[in-house]
Amino acid sequence: MKIILLGPPGAGKGTQAAKLIDLLKVPALSTGDMLRAAVKAGTKIGLEAKSFMDSGALVPDDVIMGIVGEYLKGEQCANGYILDGMPRTLSQAESLEKLGVKIDAALSLEIADSEIEARMSNRRCCPVCGAVFTADGTNPPVKEGVCDKCGAGLIIRDDDKPETVHNRLAVYHAQTEPLIAFYKERGLLKTVDATLSIDAVESALKKALGL
Ligand code: AMP
Repeated sequence: MKIILLGPPGAGKGTQAAKLIDLLKVPALSTGDMLRAAVKAGTKIGLEAKSFMDSGALVPDDVIMGIVGEYLKGEQCANGYILDGMPRTLSQAESLEKLGVKIDAALSLEIADSEIEARMSNRRCCPVCGAVFTADGTNPPVKEGVCDKCGAGLIIRDDDKPETVHNRLAVYHAQTEPLIAFYKERGLLKTVDATLSIDAVESALKKALGL
């Protein structure tokens, strides 16, 4: 099964992707995680991407398609995959079609900007394995400030700071939201209320996928 997770930053795409990996037994590709790893490793792609990411802007489509095209050719994608945070622009969606990718469903996680801004101020991330938690009690780590999965100290991502979140939401509305109509036209869009609890969103996604 090939699935796209759509939705603004902070809607819960990464959290739900982790659940869908277990359920569907397919890998997830998070372009955000891959870019952060590239920045950390100081690769050419990382150096190119950093300034865009720091300001909340999108990384250029050709950089993204380079990463994604390589990944999708890999053996691990033979039985399908989940795309988390990609495509982010109409051009990326069209490029996927040109690569011959046939999507089964585009799942749109719907949530208002005001709720996102409140959520992001509570988001804590693991800089080592990418796991995401909250500081407001909805999805806390077992030990405050420490990643449950790998034991690293949790941080607030630079791009989760309020002024950057504001930019990222503006970028989402201008460049990514048109994808909702794009996939609707193709009969692939399923929408889910992302303001619900993590478990309730997971149930709604399963239902939308007929599982
Ligand atoms: P994310 O973790 O998905 O919110 O991504 C973090 C940042 O990485 C975004 O704000 C963008 O700067 C960049 N990014 C991730 N995925 C993409 C994409 N598909 N296209 C362009 N930029 C991206």
